[in-house]
Amino acid sequence: MGPAVEPVPVGDAVPERADVAIVGGGIIGVSTALFLAREGLSVVLCEKGHVAGEQSSRNWGWCRRMGRDPRELPLIVEALKLWPEMERLTGEDVGFRRSGILYLCDDERDVARREVWLKRAGDHVLDTRMIQGAELAALLPGATRAFKAALYTPSDGRAEPQKAAPAIARAAQRAGAAILQNCAVRAISTAGGRIDGVETERGTIRAATVVLAGGAWSSRLCGPLGLRLPQLGVRASVLRTSPVDGPEGAAWANGFAYRKRLDGGYTIADGTTNHHHIVPDSFRFLADFLPILALEWRHVGVRLGGDFLDGPAGVLPGRSAVPSRYERYRTLDPQPATKLLDHALDRMRAVFPALRQAEVVQRWAGIIDATPDAVPVISTVETVPGLVIATGFSGHGFGIGPGAGRLAADLALGKAPLVDPSAFRFSRFGDGTPMRPTTGL
Ligand SMILES: Cc1cc2nc3c(=O)[nH]c(=O)nc-3n(C[C@H](O)[C@H](O)[C@H](O)COP(=O)(O)OP(=O)(O)OC[C@H]3O[C@@H](n4cnc5c(N)ncnc54)[C@H](O)[C@@H]3O)c2cc1C
Repeated sequence: MGPAVEPVPVGDAVPERADVAIVGGGIIGVSTALFLAREGLSVVLCEKGHVAGEQSSRNWGWCRRMGRDPRELPLIVEALKLWPEMERLTGEDVGFRRSGILYLCDDERDVARREVWLKRAGDHVLDTRMIQGAELAALLPGATRAFKAALYTPSDGRAEPQKAAPAIARAAQRAGAAILQNCAVRAISTAGGRIDGVETERGTIRAATVVLAGGAWSSRLCGPLGLRLPQLGVRASVLRTSPVDGPEGAAWANGFAYRKRLDGGYTIADGTTNHHHIVPDSFRFLADFLPILALEWRHVGVRLGGDFLDGPAGVLPGRSAVPSRYERYRTLDPQPATKLLDHALDRMRAVFPALRQAEVVQRWAGIIDATPDAVPVISTVETVPGLVIATGFSGHGFGIGPGAGRLAADLALGKAPLVDPSAFRFSRFGDGTPMRPTTGL
């Protein structure tokens, strides 16, 4: 079972038409809905399960500039300006705090790796720096060991995944958007060579613009439109503890990563190893993903599982089957990797013995939607006028979410975009652009 997510009121009527239809009620879809509704457009968002049921409630809650691919830096800078605004826009505390993030280094090799990013990030680095000694120790109260150094960004922060997207969705509702839950989009429809709306399990909604923010399901929704979106699912596991005293903020170390939660507990993960379940798309997109696999193969465990037949990328009948696959999988809820999580907790407890007082309250997993270059697609599509794709956030879409939603809304409106969107263009998958992640971490 996934984490308990704050509810979003149900009961919005299914409109016959809207200016914009949004597929997916994660942080990206709801942020897009909020910004479009505030511009006075009629907006309908269709979510097959409940708002934030998939990645957007299951993530670590880190909102970081540090370690980002340089192509994402202008957008994360804007997103980090929008996060503090969210309290005003939603009227709720979504848990955003600039409590700092640390990448802890054990040795000179780790330090050198982190320094690569510092150099690459150039002008976008505001307050990121290497720290060590007493300054670092003061940020790790109760630690039984010293670290060689850490890359530290005091102005990076965190927010609460189980609160943020629902609060944004409620604000979008108040601004006039219809948020339909338990309403799967079976297909995005076209007429006369352009977008015409969405076919949902509760009827057809006509819309000249559709924003596809379907997370791990986006590639499947693109297929019938003749679009090849290379995307693979990676399972990432998390546990949360009961409240306990310990370090503030968030940190990544070799073997564990943590974030202090607003409820006083910790969200903890291994931080390095994730799992990919082999599905037909693993073969279909193998060539696209070879460069990233060459870099990351040590950190991706590969498994054969039931997902081969069903799930977002399975081979069982998709579009024509009723109920559709989207209705059969209201919420992707994979099994967490318990052993991996227990080891991460043990390693954290070895450094912070106070954590021994904490109980494991819950474990869960989520399916990350990865692209071959680990950069999202936030883009119009030349061959399908009226379509905006906002997906493929590759494990770091929560922190950038409000900025990405604003950018997707700008593209839907045809307005001057918040940042230059060219790095996020869909066409890069077919135009010879090298598919390389460039985080330097
Ligand atoms: C364990 C874990 C840790 C992470 N940690 C971080 C972190 O610390 N910081 C960070 O920035 N990012 C993190 N991420 C990544 C982040 O959670 C995602 O990038 C982000 O939530 C993506 O948002 P989204 O709206 O694109 O997708 P999702 O939240 O997955 O939402 C997509 C929604 O679309 C819906 N949908 C799909 N198909 C249909 C359909 N046909 N009809 C209707 N609805 C449909 C789904 O039900 C789903 O609710 C983490 C992810 C995981 C799994």
